[in-house]
Amino acid sequence: MIVVMKPGSPQEQVEHVIQLVREMGLKDHVIVGQERTVVAVVGDDRFKDRSVLESAPGVDKVVPILAPYKMASREVQKERTVVPLGGRIKAKVGGTTVAVIAGPCSVENKSQVLEIAHAVKEAGAVGLRGGAFKPRTNPYSFQGLAEKGLELLALAREETGLAVVTEVMSIDQVGLVNRYADVLQVGARNMQNFNLLNAVGEQAKPVLLKRGMSATLEEFLLAAEYIMSKGNTQVMLCERGIRTYEDYVRNTLALAAVPELHRVSHLPVVIDPSQGTGKSYLVDSMCRAAVAAGADALIVEVHNDPEHALTDGAQSITPKQFSEMMNSIRRIAAAVDRNV
Ligand code: PEP
Ligand code: MN
Repeated sequence: MIVVMKPGSPQEQVEHVIQLVREMGLKDHVIVGQERTVVAVVGDDRFKDRSVLESAPGVDKVVPILAPYKMASREVQKERTVVPLGGRIKAKVGGTTVAVIAGPCSVENKSQVLEIAHAVKEAGAVGLRGGAFKPRTNPYSFQGLAEKGLELLALAREETGLAVVTEVMSIDQVGLVNRYADVLQVGARNMQNFNLLNAVGEQAKPVLLKRGMSATLEEFLLAAEYIMSKGNTQVMLCERGIRTYEDYVRNTLALAAVPELHRVSHLPVVIDPSQGTGKSYLVDSMCRAAVAAGADALIVEVHNDPEHALTDGAQSITPKQFSEMMNSIRRIAAAVDRNV
């Protein structure tokens, strides 16, 4: 970080700042300018308390230079992380191939999940999504089939080879979900459930971490850091739209997060255009835009009967629309030297 002194701050105030920096176990490098003095702090200061320096007499501002997250940061690891999804297909997220994960919002019954799984596999998906534990706003809404849903997902994997991506909502579900899933999904509403982040950080399965609907990218990356700091470095960052004043969409899909996350982090970035718009007719365009922007993977809600879906029917596309979308993103991918 850099400590900028107020114009004309006396030498003793600069000395005091230097003393505080040294007490923190860091080195100082003083630059005396025409109008002001600046104290550059040398060393890894990301876990130090900046406020001590901010409130010291004569200090104008303190400018952080290193990102507060470390393991998730590109400053620490230049090469991109590639996350293997599991399942028999053994697809990877983070290479030149765009991985597509698709399936229903919720697992509803055997024929529903199997029909959708076969259809999305046929169209080129490599992962099957589907919630068995659903975080619902209303406690009277469908809450998911729990273990029965996980069994159906495992059956669909058996039949199709697709990797199973499913949400774990609480620490006490981690063991159970881990037995069935290939990828543990942490939902937007749990992005800052730090105990859950620590718990999935102790598992040997990749984690799909969704951005909280009001979280900044820095908070998102710090959530990823929780998981990584527990030893699980297989983290995928999923942008799924944020809350804004807009009401033509359910959430505002922040696609600039793709290049920005790639700039500051080595972790792969996944786009969820379904929660990201809430409207099935916007999904296709957002998939194409996400691939053009460099997304490493897409996670898309597909339902064989959206009108009667138990959850998120309005944002679910049909298997036929999914297949058309896959064909259109193949062309976009080719234009940006990728493939699907
Ligand atoms: C979902 O994937 O169905 C879901 C609930 O996602 P999010 O946590 O992003 O709302
Ligand atoms: Mn959903």
